[in-house]
Amino acid sequence: MYMEKFSLSGKVAVITGAGRGIGLAAAEALAEAGALVVITDRDPALAEGAVATLAARGCRAEAETLDVTDVAAVERVAEAIAARHGRVDVLVNNAGIAISNHPAETMADDVWLRVIDVNLNGVFWCCRAFGRRMLEAGGGAIVNVGSMSGFIVNRPQEQANYNASKAGVHHLTRSLAAEWGGRGVRVNSVAPTYIDTEMNAYVYQDAEMYRHWVGGTPMNRLGRTDEVASVILFLASDAASLMTGSIVLADGGYVCW
Ligand code: NAD
Repeated sequence: MYMEKFSLSGKVAVITGAGRGIGLAAAEALAEAGALVVITDRDPALAEGAVATLAARGCRAEAETLDVTDVAAVERVAEAIAARHGRVDVLVNNAGIAISNHPAETMADDVWLRVIDVNLNGVFWCCRAFGRRMLEAGGGAIVNVGSMSGFIVNRPQEQANYNASKAGVHHLTRSLAAEWGGRGVRVNSVAPTYIDTEMNAYVYQDAEMYRHWVGGTPMNRLGRTDEVASVILFLASDAASLMTGSIVLADGGYVCW
């Protein structure tokens, strides 16, 4: 009975920014659990590559090009997927960017706006478009990829734009959970620590930065993408049927200190 709760067999899952990194690992996890996964990314080559990766493992996936900041495109893609499959059961809002090492007092307008646009506006556009269809269908699960940066202020890099965007994602999650909880749509977030992805590759060139990041983590290491994907799978599945509005830390203990 318990293992069945993790099954996504027969379900349709859409993931944003799934061409690589945490999104790709989430696609692998959800596909392995039985879902048909629609891999969306602003980069079509990454999306197609991810579909090929999943196909090589015997998993069903489709690619869609989608920039989450393009609200008209979000509506168009949500309609196209709903028309093709008749339903969307799971949405993972994973697309996100970081533009760090910009002190607040000199941060350029576009450095602030670009991060808020992808990380917060993009999450809302997708929640609204796919969530509306889930409400009409009577159910669904949304998992937003937040960050421990929504709880703490990272150091030493200055990134008020990123930190504020992720705190926004967390409270957007709670707001939608409250609005939609009685109508069958659950909305939760995962809040990861530093994960070993291309977003963070620059840390290997900066010994001081690496010392802060790993030394500030009780588990004394970066996280892996599969360790975040496991939490996403849990939150997307019926194993989390009583959970909505939760922000689940996967942080190696970072916020303990
Ligand atoms: P990544 O840079 O490796 O991958 C991000 C993917 O999102 C890429 O495929 C990129 O093409 C896509 N993308 C970027 N902007 C997009 C847009 N406007 N529309 C659609 N797709 C877009 O990043 P990652 O490390 O895998 O991070 C994924 C998510 O996890 C992000 O939301 C990030 O903020 C969050 N996160 C990452 C870490 C970390 O340490 N890596 C920690 C906490 C949270």
